[in-house]
Amino acid sequence: AMNGSAHLAELDASRLVVTLAKTLQPLPENPHFGEIKTDHMLMATYEPKTGWSAPEIKPYGPISLDPASSCFQYCPNVFEGMKAYRGPNGEPRLFRPKLNMERLARSAERVALPPFDTNAVLTLIKRLVAIDARWIPTKPGHSLYIRPTIIGTRAALGVAASDSAMLYVIMTPTGPYFNTANAKGIPLLAVGTTVRSWPGGTGGHKLGLNYAPGFLPQRLAAEQGYSQILWLLGDDHKITEAGAMNFFAVVARDDGDLDVVTPPLDGTILPGLTRLSCLALLDAHTARRTVLPGLRPALRLHTHERALTMPELAAWSAEGKLLEAFCVGTAVAVAPVGRIGWEGKDLVMPSEETGLGEVGKALLERVLDIQTGRVEWEGWSV
Ligand code: PMP
Repeated sequence: AMNGSAHLAELDASRLVVTLAKTLQPLPENPHFGEIKTDHMLMATYEPKTGWSAPEIKPYGPISLDPASSCFQYCPNVFEGMKAYRGPNGEPRLFRPKLNMERLARSAERVALPPFDTNAVLTLIKRLVAIDARWIPTKPGHSLYIRPTIIGTRAALGVAASDSAMLYVIMTPTGPYFNTANAKGIPLLAVGTTVRSWPGGTGGHKLGLNYAPGFLPQRLAAEQGYSQILWLLGDDHKITEAGAMNFFAVVARDDGDLDVVTPPLDGTILPGLTRLSCLALLDAHTARRTVLPGLRPALRLHTHERALTMPELAAWSAEGKLLEAFCVGTAVAVAPVGRIGWEGKDLVMPSEETGLGEVGKALLERVLDIQTGRVEWEGWSV
């Protein structure tokens, strides 16, 4: 409990109050990501004197807040992004959701929001998904995106931690992003003049305040024909991540094996679940614990979490060693990089026209297989 006060109520899933919507919306045909919300939402509030309220699942709708609330002023706002998929028998499935809950708790702590029981939130999210299960699309590549959110609701202008909070979870059906193996590579613009994160900053947490400063550079990049920004950092042009995705490069080695390189979690990079999962799958292939689809069983993929710079990437590209680059995240799963604009030139990836290379394709296929329960792997899909 906060401040050593033992009497503050914990977030308790057994106190859930469910109020179902009187009328249900028609399901959309081809929903745009994030625009249409499901019939219900989950909500709980925290007050410094009483702790967490009884959680509620109730019809989706507006919330009313004091205009002085912290969330509108100093942005102690955190969120998660996860998806519900349909399993082989139509059952709802989540992908490694405990990791989302742990990241949410770390994000909340970083902006001094009150702590909460992560197991309780996951139990409540499962209830919400079950109640709105008809919203999980059946079309391949489609899923139900889940957005857990916590905002600071302290209704006073003093520049201080928010001692009250609102936790809510909303959901939106989504189609494939660029979520197909055959999609053309996405063009990235490498930008180092504005930065997304910096040593000692907040880039390693999922805070709302990390995103708004990227909107203007993103718009400028789009005007130049690039669909996402590849965020660089430092005089050596270190690659951090791309848009809201983690970045991977596949490099040929002299011994015929492959190096798979992704920047390390040094606090400037969001620790993505997809990133973690891809690294684990690649290592499992190399250890012969599984065979990733389309890859030779004997192919050895050496994963490296290490600093990766644009000059390095350019040198590999010039030597013909750069075989693939791809981005990973919940929204896309795995998406191919087509080219990277940097210092007035484009670094063109070998598979710009054809989409994912063999490693990216193998990961996309296996990740989707696990998420949708076609393949069981280490209890990742629940
Ligand atoms: N980087 C950033 C900045 C993100 O917002 C996200 C999306 N959460 C990711 C990477 C990918 O993380 P995950 O695989 O957990 O979705």
